[in-house]
Amino acid sequence: MDTVSIREVAPRDGLQNEEPIPTDSKVRLIDALSGTGVRRIEAVSFVHPRAIPQMADADEVWARAWHNPDVRYSALIPNTRGAERAIAAGFREIEVVVSASDTHNRRNLNRSTDESLDDITGLIPLIHAAGAKLEVIVATSFGCPFEGDIDPERVASIVERVRADGADRIAFGDTTGMATPRRVRDLLSEVRPDLLHFHDTRGTGLANVLTALELGVTEFDASVGGIGGCPYAPGASGNIATEELVHMLEDMGIRTGIDLDKLITVAELAEDLLGRTLPSGVLRAGPRTRLV
Ligand code: ZN
Repeated sequence: MDTVSIREVAPRDGLQNEEPIPTDSKVRLIDALSGTGVRRIEAVSFVHPRAIPQMADADEVWARAWHNPDVRYSALIPNTRGAERAIAAGFREIEVVVSASDTHNRRNLNRSTDESLDDITGLIPLIHAAGAKLEVIVATSFGCPFEGDIDPERVASIVERVRADGADRIAFGDTTGMATPRRVRDLLSEVRPDLLHFHDTRGTGLANVLTALELGVTEFDASVGGIGGCPYAPGASGNIATEELVHMLEDMGIRTGIDLDKLITVAELAEDLLGRTLPSGVLRAGPRTRLV
């Protein structure tokens, strides 16, 4: 393949796993990302503010952010109320998470995987009636911190069910960075997603992307600066840094549409806004070897 589609998830997935920052800072981050050439941004989530205080101002952030017509923006929702808020705010691309691990699903969403799947069955007609599309993200697809290995057949059965219900797109999440190229091959030989969300918690993020590319997947999530961290390992890194992914792909002749220099400027801005050093090699070293 000669192009890869990257969805930038720092404003939602990233910031949800950081200390809360002001509304202004969130708007600045979305606006800066919207000018890098990236075509897709996960902008906010519509969750209860008690559950996720980092997203309590989602409506205001979205109302004030630049809606670049060349960018497709999406929102994550946990339930019907969230879907209604996302639709009212104008989103036509909506994501919902279900975990392949029942234990993880109960810890994360307070219900069993089957109960979540029943919820999704009910959400799809509501979302379609508004002219929107639903992506189902299957979390812990490559392993679970509580249950360990996840059988690829279990992931496949979840995909089969939500596709039968009318889900428009499927993503697999490597929620705690357990994926390796071997696990990617094992799962993708069983069932293929539209998009992959890898974490770099154990240093295998880009290796997993390359493996998935060889198997034909061309859509990936990444977060500028690697914003986000790992929800189950304080201090560890989480999302793949977008500039590391873009740097590798562009050097391989695979186009992303993203301007790497602009993206690195956004990663620097993100460090300022968050007030911490972000885990990105390209941010530290620059886009290429310096001769001086
Ligand atoms: Zn993530």
